[in-house]
Amino acid sequence: MSIAHSHLMRAYARQPVSFVRGSGALLWDEQGVEYLDAIAGVAVTGLGHAHPEITAVIAEQAGMLLHTSNVFRIDWQERLGDRLCALTGMQRAFFCNSGAEANEAALKLARLHGQRKGIARPTVLVMDNGFHGRTIGTLSASGNPAKQAGFEPLLDGFVRVPYDDIEAVRQVAEQCPDIVAVLLEPVQGEGGIRVASIAYLRELRALCDRHGWLLMLDEIQAGMGRTGAWFGHQHAGITADVMTLAKALGNGLPIGACVARGAAADLFSPGLHGSTFGGNPLACRVACSVLDIMQRDDLPLRAAVLGERLLGRLQQALGDHPEVIAIRGRGLMVGIELSRPCKELVGRALTERRLLITVTRDSTIRLLPALICSEAQIDDIAQRITQLLKPAN
Ligand SMILES: *Cc1c(COP(=O)(O)O)cnc(C)c1O
Repeated sequence: MSIAHSHLMRAYARQPVSFVRGSGALLWDEQGVEYLDAIAGVAVTGLGHAHPEITAVIAEQAGMLLHTSNVFRIDWQERLGDRLCALTGMQRAFFCNSGAEANEAALKLARLHGQRKGIARPTVLVMDNGFHGRTIGTLSASGNPAKQAGFEPLLDGFVRVPYDDIEAVRQVAEQCPDIVAVLLEPVQGEGGIRVASIAYLRELRALCDRHGWLLMLDEIQAGMGRTGAWFGHQHAGITADVMTLAKALGNGLPIGACVARGAAADLFSPGLHGSTFGGNPLACRVACSVLDIMQRDDLPLRAAVLGERLLGRLQQALGDHPEVIAIRGRGLMVGIELSRPCKELVGRALTERRLLITVTRDSTIRLLPALICSEAQIDDIAQRITQLLKPAN
């Protein structure tokens, strides 16, 4: 069916290819053409496509029980909560179905936290170029004016500062007594693969402690091993008060989580928040299996090793390229910033190199390969990118 006659809303600029099958880091289209996947469904299929153990768990649970509702206890939800808390030093989890929903839960916690302290207009500190989702609340928290345009009035209750700039936070702290929480990504994904410094995250933790703010880390893209630690903020040796997850938690099965500790963990009481689908037995059991496999195969460490390799290969091949401004990242979250807008590279990578990439912020190639890639596949990704940018190679 032609695009003009499609009955889908035109919310996406889609590439004219449709995949029918996948295995690990490989995908095949309707004609049987093989592609190498360097984005893993935008940081979702961390274990690769059609992981046989995940497939088996989905099939088994689908044959037992999909959904009962949160009117009842859900054993797999309790187990997943235990597992996530053990990995993070957190105390309680709330489950939902997406990243935006996880952040909505976090924003509601921030407001409750403020209201309980007697702050009538609780304000959340957010970052330039941050991305937290597309609901009205999370869009308001995000720092991308182009994505916000046309959806005014946005929610108020946010103040924005430059990312990775602790002085800016200190200044706002003095001017704005209504701040109750800080929401940020440890590595900005949509914002162009910007890595917050370790020192910044530690100082932010200290400022939150001093002012009684909740430190809320959006680990939706950077979490689940991608940066070479279980969660991106753990490189700084800090603990969050609230952490949000989604994307790779279900390896493609939709699930989100908002995990909290301390006072934040006890803010929700019955009636204050909820979700019909959130935390159903299927999604939670699959997420438990994702964690099992990641733990058994030491995949966060694997992401660190493969990420070093990918960055090294790219720097070697493209470090002197006249259009390359920076090659940066942490673990398997890698960006190549060019001196020109380069959205067209997504389509060219597909057709010319059979490679899946994304471009974010107009001029940054973003690579988010699966954590289960082989060394040879990582080298292959670097080589195809090099061929794309240096056609002579
Ligand atoms: C993808 C993403 C979201 C939004 O997740 P959805 O599941 O699309 O709602 C929020 N925050 C970050 C950092 C993300 O990368």
